[in-house]
Amino acid sequence: MPHYDLVIIGTGSGNSILDQRFADKKVAIVEKGVFGGTCLNVGCIPTKMFVHAADVAATPAAGARLGVDARLERVRWPEIRDRIFGRIDPIAAGGREYRIEHEDNANVTVYEGEARFTGHKELAVALPGGQETLTADAFVLAAGGRAVAPDIPGLAESGYHTSDTIMRIDELPSRIVILGSGFIGAEFAHVFGSFGVEVTIVARSGALLRVEDDDVSRRYTELAAQRFDVRLNRKTTRVRRTAAGVALDLEGPGGAETVEGDLLLVATGRHPNSDVLDVARTGVTTLPSGHVEVDEYQRTKVDGIYALGDISSWHELKHVANHEARVVQHNLLHPDEPIAADHRFVPHAVFTSPQIASVGLTEQDAAARGVRYVTATQDYAGIAYGWAMEDTTSFAKLLADPATGQLIGAHIIGPQASTLIQPLVQAMSFGLDARSMARGQYWIHPAMPELIENALLNLPLEN
Ligand SMILES: Cc1cc2nc3c(=O)[nH]c(=O)nc-3n(C[C@H](O)[C@H](O)[C@H](O)COP(=O)(O)OP(=O)(O)OC[C@H]3O[C@@H](n4cnc5c(N)ncnc54)[C@H](O)[C@@H]3O)c2cc1C
Repeated sequence: MPHYDLVIIGTGSGNSILDQRFADKKVAIVEKGVFGGTCLNVGCIPTKMFVHAADVAATPAAGARLGVDARLERVRWPEIRDRIFGRIDPIAAGGREYRIEHEDNANVTVYEGEARFTGHKELAVALPGGQETLTADAFVLAAGGRAVAPDIPGLAESGYHTSDTIMRIDELPSRIVILGSGFIGAEFAHVFGSFGVEVTIVARSGALLRVEDDDVSRRYTELAAQRFDVRLNRKTTRVRRTAAGVALDLEGPGGAETVEGDLLLVATGRHPNSDVLDVARTGVTTLPSGHVEVDEYQRTKVDGIYALGDISSWHELKHVANHEARVVQHNLLHPDEPIAADHRFVPHAVFTSPQIASVGLTEQDAAARGVRYVTATQDYAGIAYGWAMEDTTSFAKLLADPATGQLIGAHIIGPQASTLIQPLVQAMSFGLDARSMARGQYWIHPAMPELIENALLNLPLEN
């Protein structure tokens, strides 16, 4: 039974922990899938590469209101797909090769198989040639999460895609049904819709992107309904295979109905891989959500076992996984002087159309927590750059402490939202108040960030 100083399970953000400071340690990395994890292979990066192509494909149609008549000729899906994965797959392969073959990693053994705890700090790895059991002083649980499908009669038999498979399909369908109202469904609706596919979105709830601020969720739901066939408040009672593809029987406010498509994308959520890893066998505890329980130093309940990223974080975001990997790296090297992860102001973006970005509390969060706040909203239509774009639907909404002017939340729906939010993340992270931020610097005129300047000035602060 080989014994290691350190075993890392998962090669997403977990793979970034090792550097030359670990050269004197005997290390193993275990990976059951493709090297590089979700973000690189089936998550953030390929989706955003498709989204960029979708934004370009959607541009001609958006020109008409500006007096520019253009037409989208054709979308060469196989070429887009092959360009994207032609770039990504070699990066994944290169990462694997580096760990297995490069002299920098002479102290590292890579096990390519599924890991499962069998006892206290004892890990079985299923390998092609049989099972190997590893023990170690320290473990890092970085095994992420996986797409899960709801329990709907006929779903498994009818065949469906998840975000793991949909990006590699051979050809564009004519019609796609997307089950789910979260960010993954919203991004793929934009991609396929922009590429000329008829999109139907089926949601159990009464709005799309419900984790966003209510105003943002409402606006996105309205805009999505203008572009796609959006069915809200629907229970899917059965999924059936049809000659053309797939049919979903729904029950909703208007009674029973059926939607059909060539393909079905199930985007109803993800689950942490703590169960597959059987972390309880080594004494590691989980929350009701399935996330591994960690303290602020990313330590589990078991001495020497750390966790990071989607397996332990409800944020389920790559920049959070990367931050936590840096924290775990430090704490492995300096266990007596551990540093804490900073989860105060975690932003996220939804790369749909329009883009959405958010940081801090939503208004409904602030109200539920009884936090004192004021809000201000600034429409893109009220700034010069918004005039240039003839924008009529986008806005930024801020929440701030009325007494101190400290920002407590920021929510943007509109072009470049994921970029526009960054100075607000910076202000919140470094404690810059709204007035100082608005008036303590120049804002380039007439650039898009004037949206933020005006939103800050609109806040009805007490001083
Ligand atoms: C479609 C999609 C789009 C996304 N877009 C964004 C985005 O725009 N921005 C953003 O911040 N985040 C995005 N995310 C989320 C982001 O991908 C994750 O938060 C991030 O990849 C998590 O990293 P991780 O290291 O925790 O886990 P992962 O990257 O998932 O790595 C876990 C690794 O562990 C391996 N593994 C699992 N179980 C075992 C086992 N038992 N034994 C051995 N190996 C195992 C897996 O094969 C995997 O390689 C997206 C996710 C999806 C699915």
